[in-house]
Amino acid sequence: MPFPTTGCSGFCNQCGQVHHLPHSRRAEDEANKLMTHLETRQRISQNLFPEAASALLSTDFLFGPARGKMFGILICQDRNDQETILRAFSGQYNGLWHVPGWAPPLFDVSSYDQLNQTGEPEVKKLSRRIENTTRNTSQHARLLQKRRELSRNIMLELHDLYRLYNFHGQSVSLRTAWNKTTGIPTGSGDCCAPKLLNQAARLNLRPTGIAEFYWGRENASASRKQGCFYPSCHNKCRPILGFLLCGLQP
Ligand SMILES: [Zn+2]
Ligand SMILES: [Zn+2]
Repeated sequence: MPFPTTGCSGFCNQCGQVHHLPHSRRAEDEANKLMTHLETRQRISQNLFPEAASALLSTDFLFGPARGKMFGILICQDRNDQETILRAFSGQYNGLWHVPGWAPPLFDVSSYDQLNQTGEPEVKKLSRRIENTTRNTSQHARLLQKRRELSRNIMLELHDLYRLYNFHGQSVSLRTAWNKTTGIPTGSGDCCAPKLLNQAARLNLRPTGIAEFYWGRENASASRKQGCFYPSCHNKCRPILGFLLCGLQP
């Protein structure tokens, strides 16, 4: 089944069809306004007083070693047909998951941090043991295997913290929404489209158009350039967008 080349789309297992939300002119207009804001104010906060804005929200972050990131605009209508605009940045912004005025992540951040804080030292401890063990021995192989399993389990537990909502009012875990047989890549659910659609579904808003653009220093593979619009990604977003968009079309 062909996928539209713009906006966001994904195959829905429940309906047996591709659901699609188009890239719209209206969303592009708002995205252009946001680009002007980023360019002139050099920070992502909506606050007009620079001294009141946290230094963490500066756009300098996007031009450093971390490079740029995707930003997204979702145009929605509420129950009274009033327009509401949602905004998102992909992943974290300078270590922050929550920034006022921006769509939240799909999980509870304190549970997420707690899981990372307990898991990471264990992985590090194993890594130190691996370094101090002679290579190509059965003990070395056993430790490598143990570390692989531990990392995998932490990843699965992290995935289970994600809660995805759609426009039928259904909510499922990331693993349930994922409609491919391949493993779930790191960062799936953290892109702009899933954050925006999830927030819209939870607020009872109906999206009518989306626009996603890149801002900052171009990525390592130079496949993303500042100010350019891109459709939702194939590897992390498409396999969950079928679920997330379900119930949107009448
Ligand atoms: Zn994506
Ligand atoms: Zn569906």
